Amino acid sequence: RRNTSTAPPAAAERTLIAVKPDGVQRGLVGKIIQRFEQRGFKLVGIKMLQVSKDLLSEHYCELRAKPFYPDVQAYMTSGPVIAMVWEGDNVVQTSRSMVGPTDPTQAQSGTIRGDFSIHVSRNVVHASDSLEGAQREIQLWFEGKDLLDWDCCSRAWTHRP
Ligand code: UDP
Repeated sequence: RRNTSTAPPAAAERTLIAVKPDGVQRGLVGKIIQRFEQRGFKLVGIKMLQVSKDLLSEHYCELRAKPFYPDVQAYMTSGPVIAMVWEGDNVVQTSRSMVGPTDPTQAQSGTIRGDFSIHVSRNVVHASDSLEGAQREIQLWFEGKDLLDWDCCSRAWTHRP
């Protein structure tokens, strides 16, 4: 079944997760996907892309004026990114806790950033930080036709029926 809009089916929550260029170059894509699968979330969209300066500046519209933004731009446009949309109960907040804090020096082992990174400028992964942010970012990165509304056979074992 295909959706024509980027809005999730009623009551389903979605978030944007992106493996940044360092995560792709370091061969961490599979490990990062596995964490979301094993937690019980459902993948509804995935693509590899070279991020443009325009997309990045829309995505990080609140960071454009920061002194570190030129470095973020160089980093995020330096190689391919894997962008994904994951769906499930409370996925926005749970993903943030799975990813860990922005600065990996503050990130606990067991989080993605705590296990795979050591510096804020190379922190491996992006996760939307709010419901509104997730909706905005999903619309920015994906077309509705590329988000699949499919029945995952393990859903009844991970969600309240
Ligand atoms: N960033 C950086 N230096 C900083 C703060 C942020 O390089 O001092 C980068 C880092 O890659 C971070 C991204 O900018 O993930 C976006 O920052 P934000 O505050 O939105 O953190 P996030 O939502 O990614 O945890």
